[in-house]
Amino acid sequence: MDFEFTAEQKAFAKSTADFAASRIAPHRRDNDVRGSYRDGLIAEIAAEGLYGLRVPAEHGGLELDAVSAGIALEELAAADLTVCFPVLNAALVAGVLAANGTPEQLRRWLPPIARGEAVVAVALTEPDHGTDAANIAMTAEPDGDGWVLTGVKASIMATAYATHGLVFARTGGPGARGVTAFYIGLDDPGVTRERTNDLGCRAGGRGDLVFDRVRVGREDVVGGPGDGFIEVMRGFGFSRALIALMALGVARAALDEAIAHAKSRVAFGQPLSKYQSVAFSLVEHATVLHAARLVALEALTRQDEGLDPVLPSNMAKWWAPKAAVEAVQQALLVLGHLGYTEDGPIAQRLRDVIGMQLADGTAAATKLVVARSLLGREHAP
Ligand SMILES: Cc1cc2nc3c(=O)[nH]c(=O)nc-3n(C[C@H](O)[C@H](O)[C@H](O)COP(=O)(O)OP(=O)(O)OC[C@H]3O[C@@H](n4cnc5c(N)ncnc54)[C@H](O)[C@@H]3O)c2cc1C
Repeated sequence: MDFEFTAEQKAFAKSTADFAASRIAPHRRDNDVRGSYRDGLIAEIAAEGLYGLRVPAEHGGLELDAVSAGIALEELAAADLTVCFPVLNAALVAGVLAANGTPEQLRRWLPPIARGEAVVAVALTEPDHGTDAANIAMTAEPDGDGWVLTGVKASIMATAYATHGLVFARTGGPGARGVTAFYIGLDDPGVTRERTNDLGCRAGGRGDLVFDRVRVGREDVVGGPGDGFIEVMRGFGFSRALIALMALGVARAALDEAIAHAKSRVAFGQPLSKYQSVAFSLVEHATVLHAARLVALEALTRQDEGLDPVLPSNMAKWWAPKAAVEAVQQALLVLGHLGYTEDGPIAQRLRDVIGMQLADGTAAATKLVVARSLLGREHAP
C-alpha cells in the first residue's frame, strides 16, 4: 500500500489549495450570509478545470483519477464546503454519463459539463423517499417515443444553480428495477424550484425540484430504461468517499484554526497549547481524522485500480463526517467565546459540516452496506 500521493497529485493538490485559499476562502462568510455564491464563482471554478475532473480529455476534461477528485474536493472544502457541490456533482455525473452514454450522447453531454456551462444536480431524493430511494414515486409515463415526468425531488443540492439534472424516475414496476435515470435540461417551463432555509451550506442552493408533466425523450435516457438504480447508481460507488473527504477538509481547516489559536492565546501565563487538556484533545481529533482519511483514500485508490470501492467508501462515509463534526466542535471550544460567534472562523464550519452526515446517505444507510458485508445479508439488519 502506497501512502504517498504521486508528484502529479501533489502538484494538483497545491494548485487547488492555492486557488481555494485566494479565490474561495475570502468569500466563505459573505456567501453564507447572502445564501448564494458570489457572482463569477462558477465561471472561475470552470476556468480552473474543476468541473472536468472526471470528464475524459477527448470531451474537454482533465480526466483525473478518483484520488485526485478527492484531493480537489478536500482542498475546496477546507476553504468553503458549499462550493464543493457543483464540483462533486459534475465529477459523479460525468463519470456516470461517460460509463453509460452512447458516443453521440457523450459529445452532447460532456463538453458543457467540463466548461461549467452545464451545472449539474443529482435528483434522487423525494419528500417521502430518502434512505429507501429504491422506492421513489416520481413517475415517467410513456408518451409517444418518450416519457412525461411528474413528481417532486426534495433536498437537491445546487437546485439554485443547476441547468441540468440527473433525474431518477419510475418507468417500470415497483422497486429498484423500475427506475430509469434521465439526464435533462432544467429550463423546461414544467420545472419549478423551491429553496430550503438550511442550518448550514446556505450558499449551496439546496431545494426542491418540482416536475409538472415534463416531456423527455429516448435520447435523454442514461443507460437503458430500468437501469437507473442498478447500473447507473453503480457509478456512485465512490461518491461517499468523496463526501467523507469534503467533511475531513472542513475539519482540518477548523483544527488548524484551533492550533493557531492555542499557540497564541495566553491563559494563566502561558499559551493554551501548553495545557495537556487542550493539546491532547487536538492530538486525538487529528489522529481520528487522519485514520478516517486513509479509509476514504483507500476507497478512491480501489476505484482507480478497478477494484470495488464500496466497502471502504461506506465505512468512510459513516465515520468521517461524524469525526469531522466532533473535531470542529472541539476546535470551536478551543477558541472559547471567539469560537461561538458567527464573526469567528469556526461556527459556520460546524453548521456546514453537519450536513455531510446526511448527504448521500446517513450513517444508518452506510452501516447497512457494511453490515451486509460483515455479517452476510441474511444476518444483517
Ligand atoms: C446537505 C444535504 C445535501 C443533499 N444533497 C442531495 C442531492 O444533491 N440529491 C439528492 O437526491 N439528495 C440529497 N440530499 C438528501 C439525502 O440524500 C437524504 O437526506 C438522505 O438520503 C436521508 O434521507 P431522508 O432525509 O429522507 O431521511 P429518512 O430516510 O427519512 O431517514 C430519517 C432517519 O431515519 C434513519 N433511517 C431510515 N431508514 C433506516 C433504516 N432502514 N434503518 C435504520 N435507520 C434508518 C436515517 O438514518 C435517518 O436518521 C441531501 C441532504 C443534505 C442534508
